[in-house]
Amino acid sequence: MNTLLLEVRGLQVRYPAGHGSQAHTAVDGVSFDLAAGASLGLVGESGSGKSSIARALLRLVPASGSVMFEGRDLLRLSGTQLRATREHLQIIFQDPLAALDPRMRISEIVGEPLREFRPQYSAAERRHQVLRMLERVGLDSSHLDRYPHEFSGGQAQRIGIARALMLKPRLLVCDEPVASLDVSITAQIVNLLSDLRRELDLGLLFIAHDLATVRQVCERVMVLYRGRVMEISSREQLYTAARHPYTRALLAAVPVPDPSHALPQAVTASMPEEAPRGKASVAASGCVFRQRCPQVFARCSEETPALRVAAGGLVACHLP
Ligand code: SF4
Repeated sequence: MNTLLLEVRGLQVRYPAGHGSQAHTAVDGVSFDLAAGASLGLVGESGSGKSSIARALLRLVPASGSVMFEGRDLLRLSGTQLRATREHLQIIFQDPLAALDPRMRISEIVGEPLREFRPQYSAAERRHQVLRMLERVGLDSSHLDRYPHEFSGGQAQRIGIARALMLKPRLLVCDEPVASLDVSITAQIVNLLSDLRRELDLGLLFIAHDLATVRQVCERVMVLYRGRVMEISSREQLYTAARHPYTRALLAAVPVPDPSHALPQAVTASMPEEAPRGKASVAASGCVFRQRCPQVFARCSEETPALRVAAGGLVACHLP
């Protein structure tokens, strides 16, 4: 069994009221583990808290709870300790071009982590390492001296991946890395990430809003709704025998290659659109999914379902 890389307990992210927005809790008591070299998909609609979780892990937003990364709580590290840890913990973002400084050449963008964390490298050694990494992600020496605007979205995401992997991190957080790419490019990036994970023994947290993409990359999947965990299961369990009504609804929206694995459409037939967030829609107690759940019953309004073991996974639902 692989050692534990990441152990998240009771993670909470709360955004204060801002201009035109109410204060709200984006992540509400989320707990999960990730073993070294393993992959976990975070899935849910917009507003489910998945990107807030990614940002909280990297201390890009204030959070409470605990995030143990290789035995140290990231939420309690000092600035210097955090900077040292960042070497092992990288993120790639949804909009690859926006994440690249338009004034820098690709050799500088990808080589920047080396300049910061490996100052002993000469310029020639740095350029050599950058080229090797660019080749590994499917680019070549002709790209070294170009600028970001000269690249397509798929190429820009390859550059982002190369930069994130320059220091050989232990954990890569992918925050919707293919959301802005078309289908064929998505498949290439997803395959590249899967190969790199195995090759580099990377722990991978892969965030997506649909279950089809996550299926190709992740061995385990965590389904989120309004900042809470609805279900955590192995890929096999989740895609063939999902337990939570929300997971089943998400799955029913995914094209199924094998019709024998299709879930009953009745699961989603009566699921209404999500109500806007507000005082009336935020449950103080009870299941957060109850306003949309086709299988809601009396207990769902009275008692918040705890995550419990069910068929090899964890499910937050009162249904037997
Ligand atoms: S606890 Fe109730 S409302 Fe929530 S998912 Fe289960 S059946 Fe539906």
